[in-house]
Amino acid sequence: MNYNKKSIEDIEVTGKRVLCRCDFNVPTKAGVITSDKRIVAALPTIEYLVKNGARVILCSHMGKPKGEWKPELSLKIVADRLSELLGQEVIMAADVAGEDAKAKAAALKNGQVMLLENTRYEKGETKNDAALSKAFADMADIFVNDAFGTAHRAHSSTAGVADYLPAVSGYLVQKEVSIMGKALANPERPFVAILGGAKVADKLNVINNLLEKVDTLIIGGGMAYTFAAAKGYAVGNSLLDASKIDYCKEMMAKAEAKGVKLLLPVDCVVADAFPNPIDGPVDVQTVAIDAIPANKEGLDIGENTAAIFAEAVKTAKTVVWNGPMGVFENPILAKGTIAMAQALADSDATTIVGGGDSAAACEQLGFADRITHISTGGGASLEFLEGLELPGIACLQDK
Ligand code: AMP
Repeated sequence: MNYNKKSIEDIEVTGKRVLCRCDFNVPTKAGVITSDKRIVAALPTIEYLVKNGARVILCSHMGKPKGEWKPELSLKIVADRLSELLGQEVIMAADVAGEDAKAKAAALKNGQVMLLENTRYEKGETKNDAALSKAFADMADIFVNDAFGTAHRAHSSTAGVADYLPAVSGYLVQKEVSIMGKALANPERPFVAILGGAKVADKLNVINNLLEKVDTLIIGGGMAYTFAAAKGYAVGNSLLDASKIDYCKEMMAKAEAKGVKLLLPVDCVVADAFPNPIDGPVDVQTVAIDAIPANKEGLDIGENTAAIFAEAVKTAKTVVWNGPMGVFENPILAKGTIAMAQALADSDATTIVGGGDSAAACEQLGFADRITHISTGGGASLEFLEGLELPGIACLQDK
């Protein structure tokens, strides 16, 4: 994939209707936004468009309404917050690409901003329906993608619309693509990838593809226990995907054949059961990975494992990390994840953390400014790291 894409600065926007796909998928509680981080992150692109006299039509999804008009997933609260942040009215459309949106888009003056309703209110959105893509395109002259978190999805508002309009990146997408593209096109070696999280099944392709690229692959979190089982160890009540044991064996053989170091836990922190509530008290002990008692569940990597993983990070020149090493939502089971965040923060390597839980861990610990790049997209950054073509990026014009 070509990582050198045109941005909003490479196209004339003055007087043009610019449809800008943002990531306004903000967390809410009882109708109130609990973090406006994603709205704030979108400001540079929106402000550039306003300053340059574009007629700005913003769009985004929020949650998973699955084609239904769920009022609790209306983007009106985003329009209100964005109005405050921009210091100007953000006109809210009553629909996604219907009569009201069209009329409001047609009436926009230079520098005005409007927001369409939740794109996933339309059934066609996630199907990349051509009629919906065309309806989006009919409202605008230019498409800007500034939502990296959905760039791995071929949806109408993330990729389909670019079939009908010149398409460029916003500042957020530009930053993601240029930093990750540069780090990965020709990574400085040793190149170490760290994968964690709950399930092997979610990351099958990732493991397979990363083995083609990295010098060392580290596996922690819940998925490590299927690998432990593949080595012939009993894993007690730990997360186990029995149907993937053969796959794990294949991956171990592939790593060996390719000379890739595959680092797996040598010890783990076990408890009688998964904590309930998740952040509630839990009695733990550390055991060797081949000595997990039958009635126990592995919920974090042990200290020896954390030290081995951290050592691999120390000697690396490029590190990518996606997924927690344990049930980090519980402070007693967060030590392995914290140790990895610390190792990345202490490292001089180019360090890239992919979205979600591992990004949150770095931010909560105050390490964010010591990581080269924290991606805004979990799934998207993983696919990017694997070298896959992301539809929301591939559709943008090359420089
Ligand atoms: P994922 O969405 O696949 O990145 O998984 C993140 C989740 O994996 C977090 O909520 C963790 O609590 C969970 N997790 C990590 N390690 C384990 C483990 N050993 N057993 C069960 N769940 C885990």
